Amino acid sequence: MLNFTVGPVMASDAVRSVGAEQVPYFRTSEFSETMFENEKHILKFAKAPEGSKTVFLTNSSTGAMEAVVMNCFTEKDDVLVINGGSFGARFAEICKIHDVSHTEIKLRHGQKLTKEMLYQYDGQPFTGLLVNVDETSTGVLYDTQMIGDFCRKNHLFFVCDCVSSFLADPFNMAECGADVMLTGSQKVLACPPGISIIVLNPRAVDRVKDAHVKSMYFNLADALKNMERGQTPFTPAVGILRQINVRLKEIEAAGGEDAEVARVAAQAADFRKKIKDLPLELVSESPANGVTPVHPLHANAYEIFLKLKDEYGIWICPNGGDMKDTIFRVGHIGYLNHEDNTTLVNAFKDLQSKGLL
Ligand SMILES: *Cc1c(COP(=O)(O)O)cnc(C)c1O
Repeated sequence: MLNFTVGPVMASDAVRSVGAEQVPYFRTSEFSETMFENEKHILKFAKAPEGSKTVFLTNSSTGAMEAVVMNCFTEKDDVLVINGGSFGARFAEICKIHDVSHTEIKLRHGQKLTKEMLYQYDGQPFTGLLVNVDETSTGVLYDTQMIGDFCRKNHLFFVCDCVSSFLADPFNMAECGADVMLTGSQKVLACPPGISIIVLNPRAVDRVKDAHVKSMYFNLADALKNMERGQTPFTPAVGILRQINVRLKEIEAAGGEDAEVARVAAQAADFRKKIKDLPLELVSESPANGVTPVHPLHANAYEIFLKLKDEYGIWICPNGGDMKDTIFRVGHIGYLNHEDNTTLVNAFKDLQSKGLL
């Protein structure tokens, strides 16, 4: 199997072999040590400011998105949601479910968010801003520094969904002033799905501790309290947390977060160069490194996904909703190299020779 989706992605041999081990009991000092190591690496890789804390939730990353909305905002808030695709729409939907007033800044698929567009909301009584740093459905990377400056000026609580951008695109939590950043296990961390990670800066830690959350499982104050001893309130996905530990150490040994970002960037650049002469159009005005959304000029995007999967054993990522027939995505995250790109591009060329691309 050759997997170019955006998650779950290809995992390294070391990560896979931990997955084959027996899952140990976890109320132990050994497991707490694993959790502290995980926290230390995540805070470093996110370039989080001093005093930041991490919590690990057992759920996919949408659970982290919802937990953040539930713990950081109330009906008294009024937030801006950058909505450039399905993940922006998801944040808006979560706000709606939890009665958090919100205004969507809607973008065309692939459209970049400019300073002019954002500053139309300058000086208005908003209290927070939510953004999916890489809007994975359209591969658009937003400028966290520019958005962070806007949030600082307007005193907005700033939430960054970095699910597909963490370790794929440059991100500096301290410099851009993000209060919260969240990510998950199955994207660049290249582990099985099941764990989401939330990093809270000191201001966010205070906010969460004072929150009155109507939920047992999504109570982040409880999670923070348990994490003081390297534990979680309830049984976590112990096996995946051990795989994450191996993966974080792999990244550190290979040069750390900047080296991993550079590796993903090179993987993306190599792919984009190799498809230049094919009838495939790039979609994003501000391309993120983790994924390349592509519009096939002469063929149906979903048909290409099915053909590659069924006849070549290669998995690209279909799109959902109204992008299903027009756009597919090729991921650059996980355990892939330039040769794998060549294998995929050769399959595209083969389809082209048969009149199917
Ligand atoms: C993958 C992804 C998510 C979360 O998806 P889950 O299926 O819940 O893991 C959220 N935001 C972005 C930007 C993503 O790419």
